[in-house]
Amino acid sequence: MRVTTVRPDLTQLTRLRFVNAYLVAEDNGLTLVDTMTSGSGSGIVAAAEAIGRPIVRIVLTHGHTDHVGSLDELARLLPDAVVACSTRESRLLAGDRALAPDEPASKLRGGWKDVASRPSLLLDDGDRVGSLRVVAAPGHTPGHIALVDERDGTLIAGDAFSTLGGVSSGGRTNPRFPLVGMARWDRPTANATAARLAGLAPSALATGHGRVVADPARAIERALAAAGVARAEAA
Ligand SMILES: [Zn+2]
Repeated sequence: MRVTTVRPDLTQLTRLRFVNAYLVAEDNGLTLVDTMTSGSGSGIVAAAEAIGRPIVRIVLTHGHTDHVGSLDELARLLPDAVVACSTRESRLLAGDRALAPDEPASKLRGGWKDVASRPSLLLDDGDRVGSLRVVAAPGHTPGHIALVDERDGTLIAGDAFSTLGGVSSGGRTNPRFPLVGMARWDRPTANATAARLAGLAPSALATGHGRVVADPARAIERALAAAGVARAEAA
């Protein structure tokens, strides 16, 4: 597992060269964002031990297998950790893949894994988890969320953007790294989310796949233009 200290309170973990998770440091311990593919649990715990703080909560951006693959393993290793995901995504995680009547009837794509762990905390737009503010970011999946670190404006975007093979919005399939686009549920929703996230003017862009990009405004503008989307001004 590759461990990259992005800044003192943000560590990027990478496996298989393209699957990321993040450790966000808080006064009372670490928040783990996503759990990577299966078999990553002990490596994630070792990375937290090297930082010297316990993982006290696990937040999932969405339910695809490369993000929840080690959730059950981690729940065994960290029985006291709070497990959190969005209210909408919790149904998908529990194996209910039905779309809601008010959702676009696009096909759910990507790898889904039934997990035994159940979230002990359900999140919705605007909620706070430590220093992280929850931003609803549907499109890649129906209940996908992004997280803004309110201390410095870093956006942990999950698969609403990717940075591998260049910054790309979740509404466009990047030919240099098509996996994220191929796993997308609904393109118009993903485009609207990318525009909304761009309007937050993040100071850094941390994604599920690829390196953390500092000062990403220009790269995000280009990504939106490539997807034919205009940036939404922050409300
Ligand atoms: Zn992913």
